[in-house]
Amino acid sequence: MNKTVQSLQRRLIALGYPLPKYGADGDPGGETIAAVNAALDEIEKLRGVKPPAPKPSLPASPPASIVPADWMPDAKMGRIICHWTAGSHEASEFDRSHYHILIEDDGKLIRGIPSIKLNEAPAKKGYAAHTLGANSGSIGVSLCCMGGANESPFDPGKYPMTREQWDALTSVVADLCRRYSIRVTEMTVLSHAEVQNNLGIQQRGKWDFTRLAFDPSVKGAKACGDKLRSEAKAKL
Ligand SMILES: [Zn+2]
Repeated sequence: MNKTVQSLQRRLIALGYPLPKYGADGDPGGETIAAVNAALDEIEKLRGVKPPAPKPSLPASPPASIVPADWMPDAKMGRIICHWTAGSHEASEFDRSHYHILIEDDGKLIRGIPSIKLNEAPAKKGYAAHTLGANSGSIGVSLCCMGGANESPFDPGKYPMTREQWDALTSVVADLCRRYSIRVTEMTVLSHAEVQNNLGIQQRGKWDFTRLAFDPSVKGAKACGDKLRSEAKAKL
């Protein structure tokens, strides 16, 4: 009998490897070897399963939000209608009274005078009157541009719509969709020029937007609206 082996066997038994056949007999036989192996396996497993140090994971970058939170008060809003002001590249007081959010030629956001809350259905006094017969529950966003423009033949005039404005618009729409849980559909995110077709509410020959001055290849209300929706969706 080997005292060293016996002491090893006692330690194994104490650790829960009972050596049922021979106990601590001091004989380094198969049972003891198997128990030592099992114990080593356990240790290896413990080391192996130790979770690898967590990688400094990149935080899922939150979608860039550009509309200040206090411009988006609690309200039940169902759709976003996008316009141009048919004015200059800057937001006038008149423009600010008709829309909730305006976007100047460099993409700068200007807050309209009426709160979005006033357009919650039914529209309250002082609401933003941006779309004939479709203001309740509708948020009005407008690009400051296209004053003096002509639809056919197309002439964007002195204040053409800029790409910066358009890109800001799709970000604003994405922010509003998130804030008010508005899905991006043809009925819920649309341009003024689509209102008559998509909502069945007669308008008076509005062509914002049937042409995009920065991208003449996009023509027609639906093509412009589809571009708006797909780019806004991509920012959600
Ligand atoms: Zn309009």
